[in-house]
Parts: sequence; structure tokens; C-alpha cells
Amino acid sequence: MLMVPQNSRDEVRKVRNRIESATQAAKRNVDSVTLLAVSKAQPANSIRAVAEAGVRDIGESYLQEALGKIEELKDLPLTWHFIGRVQANKTRVIASHFDWVHGVDRLKIAERLSEQRPFHALPLNVCLQVNIGGEDSKGGVNPSELPSLVAAVGALPRLKLRGLMCIPPDEDDPARQRMGFAAMRRAFEELNAAGARLDTLSMGMSGDFEAAILEGATIVRIGTALFGERPHATNTAPPQP
Ligand SMILES: *Cc1c(COP(=O)(O)O)cnc(C)c1O
Repeated sequence: MLMVPQNSRDEVRKVRNRIESATQAAKRNVDSVTLLAVSKAQPANSIRAVAEAGVRDIGESYLQEALGKIEELKDLPLTWHFIGRVQANKTRVIASHFDWVHGVDRLKIAERLSEQRPFHALPLNVCLQVNIGGEDSKGGVNPSELPSLVAAVGALPRLKLRGLMCIPPDEDDPARQRMGFAAMRRAFEELNAAGARLDTLSMGMSGDFEAAILEGATIVRIGTALFGERPHATNTAPPQP
């Protein structure tokens, strides 16, 4: 018996309740939002505990760390999402071990992932990362580059282009949080109006997922609110208060 499951069940339930309230406020179906548990820096047993509480989608940012946990948890029916920066020399490993990649922001990376996706696997689900705050320090494409990148990535045979992802600037004010997510929603709607068939908006983390849901998020990526503070400093997300 693990020591953590009771706790995890509580934390998962609290986060699910918050997701449900936000979907109600947005007049959306609760099933339209997927909870992606971000387990970077957390041990495999913590993932097992949230899986026992019904979570199926797991997000990892650091490849080496993730591979060990994927191997250790291969008895569980989990869907693994790579949400970190994709380096060109890591695409083969990512394409063979993950079901989703959220941070694609260059055609070259998408081409490599497509070429290297194992032939026996389903197409790799990808989201294009958008630099919605226009920050130099963050990855992601400028929204103006999206139409051409969507067309090119959408044509790659071993990828399934699902949608857009963002990591917006750190912002505590819910009204201001919503402005960035609203810009994502507009970009998403414009692309679909122009013929893309995107179904995923991967946006919202522990500090802002309610605002993201109000603007149409379909995947929220939650770490700290589920697992507590990360045990060591592998944060790429803003620190929690
Ligand atoms: C760490 C991380 C998260 C989760 O952040 P929390 O604030 O802990 O919920 C979400 N998305 C990405 C890309 C991350 O790196």
C-alpha cells in the first residue's frame, strides 16, 4: 500500500471540482476539459497515486527523468505528454515514447518527429507552441507565423496536428490572465475558419487554469495544485506563492 493515495485523491478531487466550476461558469461541458497532471520532479509513485484517482494524462518536461517513469509505470494505461522544450537531437526518443508533444515551434522539429515516429505507432499528436506574450525568453511562434506553420505541420504524415499551446507571462490578475488566453482562442478560431481542423487548446496551469477554461482551454496542465511544490528546482513555470 502506498502512503500517498488518500492525499492524492483529495487533491485530484479539489482540482476536478475547480475545473467543473470553471466549465459551469463558461457554460461548457465538464468533459470538454482534460486534466493533464504535470509530474516533473515528482516520483513515479506520485503518478501512480493520481492514476489511482482516475487521472490518465501525464505531462513531463525533462526527457531523461520522464523515460524512467514511463518504464516504471508501463503497467498503467497512461497517455504521456511531452511538454518541455524539444531539442533536435532528442526527437527520436520523444517520438518513440510519447503520445503527445505540446511544444513544437519549428518546422524542422516537426519534420524530425514525423520521420522518426515508429511505423507501428499511431500518429504523434502535436500542439504548436505560441509565444502569446511576445517574450524573448520563451519558446513559441509569433501568432503571425501560425498559418504557414499549421499548413506545413498539418501535411506531415506521421503527425496529427491537434492545436495550440501557450505558457503565458506570469500574471496574478484573472482579467489580465484572460486577455492572453482570449488571444489564443482567437488565433485558434481564425485557423479553423481558414480550414485547419484543430480541436485542442493546451493552456492554463495551477495559477491560471480557471481563466484558461473561460477562454476555451481543452487541456489544462496542472502540477503544483495536484502534487504540491516541486521537490527540487526544475521549474519552468512561475513559482507559486
Ligand atoms: C511545470 C509546467 C506546468 C505546470 O505548472 P504548475 O504551475 O505547477 O501547475 C505546466 N506547463 C508546463 C509547460 C510546465 O513546464
